Amino acid sequence: MNRNRKILVTGGTGYIGSHVCVQLLEAGYDVVIADNLVNSGRDVVERIARITGRMPAFYETDLLNLESVRHIFREHRIDGVIHFAGLKAVGESVAQPLRYYSNNLTGTLHLLTAMQEEGCRVMVFSSSATVYGETNPVPFDESMPTAATNPYGYTKVAQERILTDIAAAQPDMSVLLLRYFNPVGAHPSGLIGEDPNGIPNNLMPYVAKVATGELPCIHVFGDDYDTPDGTGVRDYIHVCDLARGHIRALEYAFTHTGTDVFNLGTGHGSSVLELIRAFSEACGRELPYVIAPRRPGDIASCWADIHKAQDVLGFTAQATLADMCRDSWHFICCRKEEKI
Ligand code: NAD
Ligand code: UDP
Repeated sequence: MNRNRKILVTGGTGYIGSHVCVQLLEAGYDVVIADNLVNSGRDVVERIARITGRMPAFYETDLLNLESVRHIFREHRIDGVIHFAGLKAVGESVAQPLRYYSNNLTGTLHLLTAMQEEGCRVMVFSSSATVYGETNPVPFDESMPTAATNPYGYTKVAQERILTDIAAAQPDMSVLLLRYFNPVGAHPSGLIGEDPNGIPNNLMPYVAKVATGELPCIHVFGDDYDTPDGTGVRDYIHVCDLARGHIRALEYAFTHTGTDVFNLGTGHGSSVLELIRAFSEACGRELPYVIAPRRPGDIASCWADIHKAQDVLGFTAQATLADMCRDSWHFICCRKEEKI
C-alpha cells in the first residue's frame, strides 16, 4: 500500500528527518526531501541511500521561497508531508527572534499554501515538549494547556494553532502534532546522527564531545532541583524509536481526518548524572563533570505521559538509555574516523 505513496519530508537531511527518511524508505514509501541545508549537509542524502539501498529525491529548497515549494508539488504528486524544517536553538531564538518567527512561521505557511493548492491533505508536524511550558505537573499529557518561555517555543505553540485552525476549516485534512521529548542517539549504522558544530547546548552532544576529548569537562546545570539526585530530569528517546513513531503517525493520518496531538517519549525520566554514568559506560571511561549554576529557564523535570500514543498509535519506545548512549558514541567514533 505504501508503495504508491509519496511523502515530502521538509528538513529531511536534518537529525530527526534523516532517520525518518530511512524508515519511510524501508517501509516502502517514496520520499522527496526539501531542505535548505542551513543546519545539515547534502551528504546525508547519500548516507540515507547507503543505509536503505534507495535514493530519495532531494531539493535544496528554502521554504521561505514559496515558488520553489510550489515547484516541488508540481513535479511530484505528494500524498503527505512530514514537516521538520525549522530553526531549533532556544538561546539563538532569544537573540534572533525575527529570524525564528520568520523562518518557522512563514515556512509553515508557504508549505500549507502549496498543499492547499495541490489538494494535499495529510500533515505530520514536529512539535516539542517545550509547549507544556513551566507550570504543568509531570508527566505531561496532551490535554494540558500549552505555553512558551522563549521565541522558539512560541513558534511551536503558534504553528500548532495555525495547523489546528486550517484543519478545522478543511474537513478532509488530517494534521498530527507530534510533541517530541528529548531525542538522542543515532542510527546503529553510524552513518547518520547528530554532530553539532561548536559547543553544543544540549546535554547528550555535550557529553559526547567530552568523551572524545574535544571538551574538557561536563557542566551539570544545578544539583539542587526537587528530583531524586538533585539534577534535571528529562525523557530521552532514541531517535530511531522517534522515527518509528512517525511511521505510525503517518499511517494513522492516512486513515483519519481532523487534528490530533501525540507525545513521543518513553514515559521515563533520567537525570543528568544518570545520563553521564550511562555514557561513561558506553565509552569505557569515567567522564569528568563539575556542578555549575542552574541554567536560566530550565525546569526540574520533564517526561511524557505516553498512554495516548500507546493506545491510539500502538507506539511504545523500546531503546534504553544505555542503547541511546551506545549508538551516539558509535556514531561519533565513525564520524571521527571519517574525518581522519
Ligand atoms: P535539524 O536542525 O537537524 O533539522 C532541521 C532541518 O531543517 C535542517 O536540516 C535545516 O537545514 C532545515 N531547515 C531549517 N529551516 C529551513 C527552511 N526555511 N527551509 C528548508 N529547510 C530548512 O533539527 P532536528 O533536531 O532534526 O529537528 C527537526 C524538527 O524537530 C524541528 O522542527 C525541531 O524544532 C523539532 N524538535 C526537535 C527537537 C530536538 O531536540 N532535536 C525536540 C523537539 C522538537
Ligand atoms: N544540562 C546540563 N549541562 C549541559 C546541558 C544540559 O546539565 O551542558 C542539563 C539541563 O539543565 C537539563 C538536561 O541537561 O536538565 C537536558 O538539557 P538539554 O538542553 O539537553 O534539553 P532540554 O533542557 O531542552 O530539555
